[in-house]
Amino acid sequence: MPQIDDKLAPIYEEVLRRNAGEAEFHQAVREVLESLGRVVAKRPEYLESSLIERLCEPERQIIFRVPWTDDQNKVHINRGFRVQFSSAMGPYKGGLRFHPSVNVGIIKFLGFEQTFKNALTGLPIGGGKGGSDFDPKGRSEAEVMRFCQSFMSELYRHIGEYTDVPAGDMGVGAREIGYMFGQYKRLTNRYEAGVLTGKGLFYGGSLARKEATGYGNTYFTRAMLQTDGNDFDGKTVVVSGSGNVAIYTIEKVQEFGGKVIACSDSSGYIVDENGLDLELVQQIKEVRRGRISEYARLKGEGSGAYYVKSADGSIWDVPCQVAMPSATQNELTGKDAKTLIKNGVLAVGEGANMPCTPEAIRAFQQAGVKFGPGKAANAGGVATSALEMQQNASRDRWTFEKTETKLADIMRDIHDSCYATAEEYGAPGDYVAGANIAGFIRVAEPMLAFGVI
Ligand code: NDP
Repeated sequence: MPQIDDKLAPIYEEVLRRNAGEAEFHQAVREVLESLGRVVAKRPEYLESSLIERLCEPERQIIFRVPWTDDQNKVHINRGFRVQFSSAMGPYKGGLRFHPSVNVGIIKFLGFEQTFKNALTGLPIGGGKGGSDFDPKGRSEAEVMRFCQSFMSELYRHIGEYTDVPAGDMGVGAREIGYMFGQYKRLTNRYEAGVLTGKGLFYGGSLARKEATGYGNTYFTRAMLQTDGNDFDGKTVVVSGSGNVAIYTIEKVQEFGGKVIACSDSSGYIVDENGLDLELVQQIKEVRRGRISEYARLKGEGSGAYYVKSADGSIWDVPCQVAMPSATQNELTGKDAKTLIKNGVLAVGEGANMPCTPEAIRAFQQAGVKFGPGKAANAGGVATSALEMQQNASRDRWTFEKTETKLADIMRDIHDSCYATAEEYGAPGDYVAGANIAGFIRVAEPMLAFGVI
């Protein structure tokens, strides 16, 4: 098991003490600290300036009440969060997650990861994350709108084009961003397009933003495969989830000649031995907001498609050569990793944030499976959000092709920088170390320049 360097261990102890019970945050911090021993050996000034301690403490944490009324006039109270983690590289930037599991520890883990991810893109964006324990599932359009308006009625005080620029995440897509942008505009009397990203195309959104995280992970995973002369062509691929990230991962993998045979939602997974019919998945999940089980029912018996409830098995039991977990944190365990390795997996690209447990990552690395951590592999979404901000600032609108070409270049640069950094710091092929070290150094340098703030 990788260890935290003796010089860094007290920092981790302090994080555990000050953030009791926030298991996901501990996990995210631990993974980064495990990589930094090599860095502080070369650059002791990072330790002397207490820079790492400062990076483990968010600059600002906002927690607020979100009251709203359902269609039966019953009042509900949810909790809203915005954790502004680091503005060393630029305005705080990171998505909003609406999911019943959201708590401050989850938002902090996401904000911490986001800081290094954003630095890896090479674009001038700091790290932040937010959301609410609101569950949009089963809610009417009007309920979702009222919730978003109430959420923004507090959040608007804390965000702005030069301060903090939220975007979508789980449970927050173009519909929710639209309601929140409308409320922000109404409250501030400003048409400040750059205050949110992931906007609709008719009011300042960027082409290719919707596709960017899934496409980006596919570009990154392809670059990993190519280091061994491989590609997606002819490979069997499993993608978990069936939301924004999963859908556009499936699309790009299929375009590159891969055969995606399974995807999932929180209730279970579907397998289609003939390769997934993406249009049908989109129809069920994006248009009707239904359940993935409907896929097997609509395809019918004898079609090669079937559904397995999550209680009856794991999507990672399905044999594949490339695995792209794109649902949620800690969804792929050490046991799942062993099954994937036994079945001959070559590469794993994390579309979600921290979907693989530390045990799973260790198993992949020990088995020589190429492993792309989320903070590098899924950075295409936030990178394209930064491209959306560029277009908003210049009152410009780029074509899909231009934006996707920039995205592909950014993902290639992130891959190459993780690869080269891992080599430079004595961990060849270790993309986790490469991403953590490269991201950290980019954030650390401006922090040194700014002094103790
Ligand atoms: P969506 O809400 O669009 O989709 C999430 C999907 O994951 C849904 O299909 C959901 O199913 C499924 N899911 C949730 N929990 C589980 C579970 N325990 N087991 C299996 N499936 C589950 O979210 P996104 O696609 O936007 O986000 C997915 C992941 O990618 C998150 O970790 C997010 O932080 C990360 N990410 C997203 C970015 C973006 O641009 N959107 C950018 C970078 C990272 P159900 O419908 O049942 O809830």
